[in-house]
Amino acid sequence: MGPGSTFSDMEIRVLESLRLLLWPTAFRNQVRSEGSESGLCKCGSTQTATHLLLVPQDCTIHSLALRSISKGRHSDGVRELSICILKLDTWKVATMEHVEDPEARLEGVRSAISRARGRRVLSMQSECHNGSNGPQHWKPDGVLGRLVNGKISLLLIDVTFAADDKLAIEDEVLKYWKDNRPPETPVWPPLATDFFDDGGRITNKGMASLPADLQDRARRLSVFHPARYAKRYDPLAKALRSDTSIKWSHKPEVVTIAIGVAGWIPDYTYKGLKRIFNDPKELCEATRALRIVAQSHAVKAWRAFRDDK
Ligand SMILES: [Zn+2]
Repeated sequence: MGPGSTFSDMEIRVLESLRLLLWPTAFRNQVRSEGSESGLCKCGSTQTATHLLLVPQDCTIHSLALRSISKGRHSDGVRELSICILKLDTWKVATMEHVEDPEARLEGVRSAISRARGRRVLSMQSECHNGSNGPQHWKPDGVLGRLVNGKISLLLIDVTFAADDKLAIEDEVLKYWKDNRPPETPVWPPLATDFFDDGGRITNKGMASLPADLQDRARRLSVFHPARYAKRYDPLAKALRSDTSIKWSHKPEVVTIAIGVAGWIPDYTYKGLKRIFNDPKELCEATRALRIVAQSHAVKAWRAFRDDK
């Protein structure tokens, strides 16, 4: 939407009605009927627009078209982001889906990732049992490197689409922490710490750091996206950091690019995108591309929902 939009008038109506919570979902019918209807989807979940935009792949009671939205949207999101990154003079691709000719000068980074995999040090602590390690997390959606005078900075990127209102709560929590940083805390905001479990769920300790009203909202989050990826790729970031074949200018950083399924972009995603796209024009282009991915899949989901009733 906005100038140069390629959406048709009908599609813009679908997107506007999504924004105004006017999709004819069971939940809306329940509200309209003052509770005499159940509000439930045929799969048993409360049927909001967000539910329809995030139907799990394995929820086979729904049509394949609706179940395929999440995967197609993620793949398109990573591809659009990669197209924007490939235009940059600053950050170069070490590895990224859809990129077939990554930067030759970052071969050392790819080798370091292979060595870390070989040493089997890329599992999270909760995945290691009785001395044996679990799955290894060596493949974020993108690994970007920047070379300055032979020294390397690295960003480990993950792209995710999630409920817009949940991302707004994540922003609120991050802002609270930013404004209330305890003295002498080396790692802040505390994403890859015991404020979260390895799945990215906020722990009792994390909860205790928040005021009561914010705790109530934070309890609605089944996962805190930037923490999930910070945790998942912390072993990779540490292994790379300690690889002596690379001269580092900064520690490798994990950057979560989370986008609302209705197209809302939280502050922390803007900040992450700003790390990659320094120039305001490039930043604007990347943000727009990601929002269009969310919106075009929302239109697809609406069609699939209409056909799936
Ligand atoms: Zn359902």
